[in-house]
Amino acid sequence: MVTKRDAAKQDVGVEEELLQASDCCGNGCTHCILDNKPRPSKRVLLAGKRNVILSYTKFRLLRRESLDGQVLQLHFGHAAEQGTDTEDSVLDIPPGHHVMLRVGSLLRPYSPYWSDFQAREFRILVKLQQEGPMSRHLAAVRPNDLLEFRGPIGQYVHDPMEAKCIYILAQGVAIAPTLPLVRQVLENEEDMSRLWHLVCARDLQHVYFREELLEFAQFWNYRSCLYLPHQQCESAACKEAGHCDPECPNLRRSLRYRETAKVSRLDASGLTTHSNPSIAGQRVVIVAGDSNFQRNMALIATQSIGVDPAHVYLL
Ligand SMILES: Cc1cc2nc3c(=O)[nH]c(=O)nc-3n(C[C@H](O)[C@H](O)[C@H](O)COP(=O)(O)OP(=O)(O)OC[C@H]3O[C@@H](n4cnc5c(N)ncnc54)[C@H](O)[C@@H]3O)c2cc1C
Repeated sequence: MVTKRDAAKQDVGVEEELLQASDCCGNGCTHCILDNKPRPSKRVLLAGKRNVILSYTKFRLLRRESLDGQVLQLHFGHAAEQGTDTEDSVLDIPPGHHVMLRVGSLLRPYSPYWSDFQAREFRILVKLQQEGPMSRHLAAVRPNDLLEFRGPIGQYVHDPMEAKCIYILAQGVAIAPTLPLVRQVLENEEDMSRLWHLVCARDLQHVYFREELLEFAQFWNYRSCLYLPHQQCESAACKEAGHCDPECPNLRRSLRYRETAKVSRLDASGLTTHSNPSIAGQRVVIVAGDSNFQRNMALIATQSIGVDPAHVYLL
């Protein structure tokens, strides 16, 4: 068993390691590793265990699935060194936190959409970027390959004791890190917070995790809406317009029970329709997407639903 003192020593070791500027990936992450030192969480300290990912650690690729050639689902498991006792270790990646992947001197952040504390496994969704050096590497990884990760990096903390209205705005593959944020509210019966999950994608084909969203929709405190500006069916009218009509019957038929979609971008007036002023509770906005999306959504949220900028979190 790892004592609190051991964990503190482990933390000090990590701080020394983080003093190097070369640990920053240079991608301009909102929560840079240099300001967000991976350290043992309360959960890990209470469990009296060691979080295996606090310093660079090898993970084995257990499963690789290609969704559409450009997007991969990768499932990793901790590769314990021979002779080490795995009983004492866990994998703790809190919701809203990311991990750093290191291949040689190349560093890139990724945001797990699922992780298992005891089994020390996690999954990421990767969009391969043309000409991207890490994308080239990940396109070639195969089951059993070993990759090095470190983390968790981030600042978001959710207090389940205070019921809030939480707006989660996600763009494209960045829906992935929002799933643990939703699960942590829905899986806690005592958490009275309400969630609005607003998912922006080109079209229905580019909405990832539709099954999970439908499962979430069974909970009283979860609402979602898909924003699909480029949705286009085969009908002559929609082809001519370049996108489906808001009332397009083909689009309605493509939607599942409890799925709602708009053929537009999410903008200030769209966000206002979800503001529900009669529902009490502090407004919190979490934005997951590229830096442009984060900037625009943060601005819209503060202007249209009056969220205090201190309660806008960019992942
Ligand atoms: C906090 C954080 C979490 C992240 N989590 C994930 C994740 O879970 N899954 C994931 O796939 N990626 C994620 N990313 C992006 C990821 O770290 C890499 O940037 C991406 O995989 C491309 O790496 P690369 O080395 O192949 O290409 P790079 O050299 O980084 O980029 C190649 C080209 O693609 C462009 N580009 C890079 N990323 C994007 C993007 N997201 N949208 C549009 N253009 C882009 C670059 O501007 C460049 O022109 C995250 C980024 C941050 C900051």
